[in-house]
Amino acid sequence: MAMRMTGPSAIMSRVIEETLSPKKEEEGAIGYIRPSSLAKGCVLYVAMELLKVPKEEIDNRVKRILEAGTSSHFRIPKYFSKITVAKEMPFLDEEYRIRGQCDALIYIPPDLDVEHSGFYVVEIKTTSSSEFERIKEAGQPKEEHITQCLIYIWGLTRYYKSIPIRGGIIYYENRDTLDYHLFNVTYDENLLLPLLNEIKAMLPGLIIEGKLPEAHLPLDHWAHEYCPYLSVCDYGQEAMKLKKEKKSEIPDRVLAEIIGMRIVKKQRAKEEKVKKKTPRTLEELSEEFNWE
Ligand code: SF4
Repeated sequence: MAMRMTGPSAIMSRVIEETLSPKKEEEGAIGYIRPSSLAKGCVLYVAMELLKVPKEEIDNRVKRILEAGTSSHFRIPKYFSKITVAKEMPFLDEEYRIRGQCDALIYIPPDLDVEHSGFYVVEIKTTSSSEFERIKEAGQPKEEHITQCLIYIWGLTRYYKSIPIRGGIIYYENRDTLDYHLFNVTYDENLLLPLLNEIKAMLPGLIIEGKLPEAHLPLDHWAHEYCPYLSVCDYGQEAMKLKKEKKSEIPDRVLAEIIGMRIVKKQRAKEEKVKKKTPRTLEELSEEFNWE
């Protein structure tokens, strides 16, 4: 007679069978919110994604950049594997319908540093040279990356209940030079609450009637322009119209001065690069030689 599995083995076996069984899509069921989508801060975007509204196709060059970013998530964690507890650590929150996985959870042992010993969520981001320098100069991560890191800390803490996560670390890598810079993220649930409350308020209408929310990014936010829902979003269209009108309000003389200043700045930057003795990045070379 086959021996029955009990306790944790039985639970694990159930998970294995569920994973391998064909998934039955419930009719009208909506998916789960991804932390990276939520971190953009637009509830309307999140709602459209849950309803699986088709997005504008992204071009192949951008796809390659995204894939390069994804593959670096396999390489980078090796550099701090000594203090890694888990890679791609998942969480699920049914109440807010959020599902995600953080890149890594690390543990700084007291042997390394008593004051900062504890668990930290690590979020990995790869950027272009110019973006990398901008972030370093600003002395802080991009706002949406901080929000994403906070969502992981919030989600993992709620899901696992017994892991006392102290904060987060955002790991930026310059994808041209492979230089890196790390930022600490202090956990503050209050920073997330307004966004989480908007999600909670939006879910019943969306699930029951497929109703899209009113909440969206402010019209003067830069992100509408790059949103894959721009062509089907009235607010996004309005934001673009306002941006155009604002631009055309600038007198020709001022516009000419701005363009002139930009040309001089670009020329100076080029001259500086030529003078540089250090090896140049691929991006700098392509700019200098006008490679396509
Ligand atoms: S276009 Fe703007 S308002 Fe519309 S979904 Fe995208 S980010 Fe939100």
